[in-house]
Amino acid sequence: MTILDGKALSEKIVDEISTQVKRLKAQGRRVPGLGVVLVGDDPASHTYVKMKEKTCQRVGFLSKVVRLQENTTQKELLNTVRAMNEDDTIDGILVQLPLPPHLDTTEILESINPSKDVDGFHPYNFGRLVQGLESFVPCTPLGVIELLKEYGIDPKGLDCCVVGASNIVGKPMAALLLNSFATVDVCHIYTKDLKRHTLCADMVIVGVGKKGLIKEDMVKEGAIVVDIGINKLSNGKIVGDVDFDNVSKKCSYITPVPGGVGPMTIAMLMKNTLKAYYNLTRSKDTV
Ligand code: NAD
Repeated sequence: MTILDGKALSEKIVDEISTQVKRLKAQGRRVPGLGVVLVGDDPASHTYVKMKEKTCQRVGFLSKVVRLQENTTQKELLNTVRAMNEDDTIDGILVQLPLPPHLDTTEILESINPSKDVDGFHPYNFGRLVQGLESFVPCTPLGVIELLKEYGIDPKGLDCCVVGASNIVGKPMAALLLNSFATVDVCHIYTKDLKRHTLCADMVIVGVGKKGLIKEDMVKEGAIVVDIGINKLSNGKIVGDVDFDNVSKKCSYITPVPGGVGPMTIAMLMKNTLKAYYNLTRSKDTV
């Protein structure tokens, strides 16, 4: 069994990006900028935003974080996003999810300029992804694909079971696998018999948010298992959706939690921001 070490690969990617930023600085050019909007007091969201800020500092990006109160109105939030759309020092915009329930998430995500949509959640980018066209790809599934690539795992022809079908994890994951010519089976809360689907898969990718959902008897011998889930236990420990200790004995490759998909997600955010920077500066150069 081989551990798919997302921490090590993410460090490598972050180092490569920071080398590129140093080169830009040495050329006297502006550095890439990431704008983050955080609404409310959700502790997990605050932690994620801090981690993103820290990584921005590490690679040398400009990072602008706007923290808004829980009772922020839709109009205030829209104005914040629009100001970032207009800000020439910001190449990527991210609105930390989930938003408080009184806000319309769809309208907010659609207000982001698709050229700065480094989370890849805008329907423009998602539609392009599904059509197999160049787009911003959501960071978590993109991180999974990069991690598989690093270990020489090609999804082409594999039977893949994606468990979880959200717009930010499961659906784009399924689209990327399909674009890589895998045969994709997508399961969700209303799937009648989850085990029937996972057990016949060459690769199981799970992003649900339920500790221990995937058990040893649900994966076939030699399967590849990717765990996207993040669950915080009462003792503060972070675990995934897979019963790692028992499932790892059966599979050929597995991602740990923490240290698997999580760090890859942040590395892909940096990668997408650098891509947005190059796209935007190149288009300015040619105007
Ligand atoms: P979500 O709540 O939006 O979606 C959960 C999905 O799981 C839904 O499609 C739902 O139908 C499905 N589901 C729920 N219970 C199920 C069950 N018993 N069997 C099968 N399917 C079931 O959540 P999300 O935003 O997609 O996040 C999913 C998990 O991934 C969470 O644990 C989240 O913390 C984690 N996550 C991790 C990263 C990372 O960087 N590693 C990034 C984003 C999300």
